[in-house]
Amino acid sequence: MMPVTELHLRALIDTVATRVIRHADQLTALDAAIGDGDHGINMQRGLEAVLADIDGLAAKPLPDALKAIGLILVMKIGGASGPLYGTLLMTLGRELPDSPDRAALATAFGAAVQAVKARGKSEVGAKTMLDVLAPVLQTLEAGGDDLPARARAQADESAAATVPMKATRGRASFLGDRSIGHMDPGARSSALMIAAICDVLEGRTSR
Ligand code: ADP
Ligand code: MG
Repeated sequence: MMPVTELHLRALIDTVATRVIRHADQLTALDAAIGDGDHGINMQRGLEAVLADIDGLAAKPLPDALKAIGLILVMKIGGASGPLYGTLLMTLGRELPDSPDRAALATAFGAAVQAVKARGKSEVGAKTMLDVLAPVLQTLEAGGDDLPARARAQADESAAATVPMKATRGRASFLGDRSIGHMDPGARSSALMIAAICDVLEGRTSR
């Protein structure tokens, strides 16, 4: 993979944040079905704070930018997802070199997914963001051609696959069987962010 230039980093931050903010209503509707209806608002608040500091963030080396974004997410998103996304990005920032290749990215993302599991006392299959993050990690570890396209497809498929799951972690678990039949909001926000990253890696910075 290419070195992440300042321009590239700015495009990444802008595309990811704007993509999620544009889907805030959808995320809130998903969370209204099986949670407390704040996931879109939470994500929007956190990512607007990131966008407000985009000049400073994009000027940093990639690892430092990720750590700083993680800290903003912890402070601004709140709820269960803020500390979890914060942990994901802060761990990525700690583990990544300045200009990662695919193997380095896979290693760092593996550590970050592991850190989210530990922080959330959760595993794959509990109907959470991990049900998207872990399969995408496997795609990244496997490597091969057209990786962004396959990672995006994997993320979307995995988010859809949370619909028939029964939640055993997070607020949705309070619903028991009634959590079945709805997509997990955190799985959807993870898929949106991964799709946006893949778009930028493919040279598309559209929001
Ligand atoms: P809250 O549940 O506090 O209202 P949000 O609505 O912002 O927080 O985020 C909910 C999302 O967080 C869920 O859809 C799920 O993907 C994720 N989540 C909640 N608890 C956990 C956990 N223990 N491990 C992993 N992800 C979790
Ligand atoms: Mg919620």
